[in-house]
Amino acid sequence: MSFSFPVSPAVKARLEKLGLYGDADLALHLPLRWEDETRVTAIRDLIPGQQAVVQAKVMEAEVLYRPRRQLVATVADDGGELIVRFLNFYPSQVQSLKPGRLFRIVGEVRGGFFGLEMVHPRCQPIQPDTPLPDRLTPVYPTTAGLGQAGLRKLVDKALHALDLAETLPQEIYAGMDLPGFAEALLQLHHPDSGLPLALLESREHPAFRRLAYDELLAQQFSLRLAREARASRRATPLKPGKFPQALLSALPFRLTAAQENAWREISGDLSGARPMRRLLQGDVGSGKTVIAALACLQAIESGMQAAIMAPTEILAEQHFSKLRGWFEPLGIEIAWLTSALTPAQKKQTVARIAAGEAGVAVGTHALFQKNVHFRNLGLAIVDEQHRFGVRQRLALSEKGAEPHQLMLSATPIPRTLAMSYFADLDVSTINELPPGRTPVATKLVADTRREEILRRVQAVCREGGQAYWVCPLIEESEKIDLQTALDTHAMLQAHLPELRVGLVHGRMKPSEKQAVMAAFQANRINLLVSTTVIEVGVDVPNASLMVIEHAERFGLSQLHQLRGRVGRGARESVCILLFQNPLSEDARSRLRIIYESADGFEIARRDLLLRGPGELLGARQSGAPMLRFANPERDRDLLERAARLGPELIERRPEAVAAHLERWLGARAGFSAG
Ligand code: ADP
Ligand code: MG
Repeated sequence: MSFSFPVSPAVKARLEKLGLYGDADLALHLPLRWEDETRVTAIRDLIPGQQAVVQAKVMEAEVLYRPRRQLVATVADDGGELIVRFLNFYPSQVQSLKPGRLFRIVGEVRGGFFGLEMVHPRCQPIQPDTPLPDRLTPVYPTTAGLGQAGLRKLVDKALHALDLAETLPQEIYAGMDLPGFAEALLQLHHPDSGLPLALLESREHPAFRRLAYDELLAQQFSLRLAREARASRRATPLKPGKFPQALLSALPFRLTAAQENAWREISGDLSGARPMRRLLQGDVGSGKTVIAALACLQAIESGMQAAIMAPTEILAEQHFSKLRGWFEPLGIEIAWLTSALTPAQKKQTVARIAAGEAGVAVGTHALFQKNVHFRNLGLAIVDEQHRFGVRQRLALSEKGAEPHQLMLSATPIPRTLAMSYFADLDVSTINELPPGRTPVATKLVADTRREEILRRVQAVCREGGQAYWVCPLIEESEKIDLQTALDTHAMLQAHLPELRVGLVHGRMKPSEKQAVMAAFQANRINLLVSTTVIEVGVDVPNASLMVIEHAERFGLSQLHQLRGRVGRGARESVCILLFQNPLSEDARSRLRIIYESADGFEIARRDLLLRGPGELLGARQSGAPMLRFANPERDRDLLERAARLGPELIERRPEAVAAHLERWLGARAGFSAG
């Protein structure tokens, strides 16, 4: 993709900064908003705060030096006078503002001390009969050094040079009441002055929907093609055997129906020769780990190795001890690889993995480092997959020839996102919690009532229960973060001298963290003060109270994950969200959502509406383009249609699909991110 007209290197660099590499990108660079310059307003009708077009003659213009150097002109039409002020200006501007000359002046009106004025308006000398534009004026997103006028010209050139013919057969638009591609672009770049701006700006206008639909189709094509390409590669089939059954009968519980279902789907994929790419999603505490363990067993039984990668030391440690309990009776060795090991231990572990003595390796990022080699990795499992980047997940998979991949996620992905961004994956969903869980009561409490909360902590711990106290998140500084955790720990220990208060934070050595977590697990610590390191995965069923300080600073999925640490046992559980007034509008809606809903899917859906898909997708998308026009939740109807038609068009009209992808993706990578 490139520009079909000359563009200077400086301008090219700026366009690239905007992600624009060629004609098609420019044509799809849509205005942020539009200005109506199709009507002239008489000066006496001007209203401060308004954007307006005025046609007026220069009365006088002079360069003043007080309070600072500026060019000030008075202009007038039949009914009034207006001051025009420039704080930065060229000598040519002074020259051009000749008394008596007629100008068209576009800018924002302000009520100044000396009457109405415009600061830095656009001024164009005109004749009395110079026509007004008959279309709205686009205002584009731009970058320093690239002005609106210049960018407008470039976009118009691109629109002119491009072949805007339809790429896809017309029948896919049938009955949708959408304009053609060329017409939609023209309407969006240069809308008719009659078009209602509000409708355009809401992105519900048919012209906008047309582009959103085309973009969703491009995404479906790209992801489905990636999926087909993968299906033609070969993985080692992992045959189901007796190990999984042995684990199931040893467990103190039965799988829920949803777990059974997920396990059936995964087991089926593993036994095939296509490399599996499956996302197992299930709410916090829904029991994904045991499913991952079953998958490992299927790999081991086929003579292959499995790896489980977790984003934190604490979580990796938990998986390790849980799996060891399950696998040792079956005579399966597990290796544990984290940065917590001494060099000698590490060396030995790496050797056991390389020799194939360890059937399963559990660990953090340490797993995909250069010195780690598997004898034959058949299955790569990534827990809390959104915490890892695309590259890291790939790095783990590259430890085997073509291993099957299973990704676990406790941040449920709303259906619309799964259908769009995850269309290259298969998804299994665990949509129920194991029986016997007590729902967590959520309370919103202003932090002025701290004393009350302390008494509550005391009461819970006296009865043998345990509690978490999560310290506020301070984005800017890990140092302040740490200090806050230390202070909170000291404060709580001072107020609750009879309790054993522990502390865990991200700056601790892995071995220290481990020791604290083990003590908490064994109820040798009553109250655990922590930064968000306990956000994912930690499983201590006896803990039934969670206090989150400055809950207003946390994101929705974080709050949901944190809250998921309690309500895991038989004890009645409570999550107290301490907040500090005044609350921003945004914080208020987040707290309301978390208060009203305990269902991860519902929370994720509302999060998506609130913030768009960026957060939910996490690192998955880094490197792959985001949707620019479509919003899967808002444009659900378009998405469903695109998802239905995508595979069919790939099959029936491959050449049209290729042309459509070229238009929409061009130099960009596909939507697939591994
Ligand atoms: P998550 O899906 O959040 O990773 P875990 O796998 O950690 O959840 O499971 C949470 C807890 O529930 C664990 O203690 C696990 O052993 C237990 N568990 C899993 N499945 C069941 C089940 N079917 N019945 C009862 N308890 C279960
Ligand atoms: Mg988990």
